Amino acid sequence: MQVEIELSATLETPFSIGTGAMADSVADKPLVKDAAGRPFIPGSSLKGQVRHKCERIIRALVVPWPGRWRCEAPYPDRMCRGPDLCPICRIFGSPWHPAPITFNNLTLTTIVEEPPRDWEQLRSVRATDIRLGVGINRSRNVTAEELLYSTETYVPPLALIYRGRIWGTLEERREVALLLAGLRSVVALGGGRSRGLGWWRLEIAVKLDGQPVSVYELLQELDQWSS
Ligand SMILES: [Zn+2]
Repeated sequence: MQVEIELSATLETPFSIGTGAMADSVADKPLVKDAAGRPFIPGSSLKGQVRHKCERIIRALVVPWPGRWRCEAPYPDRMCRGPDLCPICRIFGSPWHPAPITFNNLTLTTIVEEPPRDWEQLRSVRATDIRLGVGINRSRNVTAEELLYSTETYVPPLALIYRGRIWGTLEERREVALLLAGLRSVVALGGGRSRGLGWWRLEIAVKLDGQPVSVYELLQELDQWSS
């Protein structure tokens, strides 16, 4: 069955999603940005968070968790090789099984469909903030060795939201239900969630085989995992 999920995200607090790689920024943890310097939300980063939520949900639903699947992401050696894939690898893939679902990047768009004539006019579109934080080095056996680091954060100006798309093919409706439940459990995005970064409000629209389907109705079908 063809699955299309459209996402519209409004950031309520600044977010921080880094590349890990050095970017053109003074911060230790710079944001990922497109060629024009606009921060975006990498699909891979959202996918990782949703997968983690789905793992917790499915283990709560399928009681007792059958010994049939011994899948322990993110360790490739301990993940499903198939053909009998666990529900999570069926949706998100494993190192031996390509994911049937793709998470596109979420990019900035205006709330009205019409883009601004000139992005340069919206100067604040590219204005990010640098925050200083204190980290604790847990790898050393020192009670609290403090490290000062800087994180680049961003909150879009009013009238701009993030839009993105999750799409692909799934076998069963209850897999779509699980994916949606995981997606809705992601209440904050990226790094620094415990410090209040990345809180977002997400609107979700779903089409199955081209037909709009209510998210609420699909979520009822989560029950089918417990029967
Ligand atoms: Zn698995």
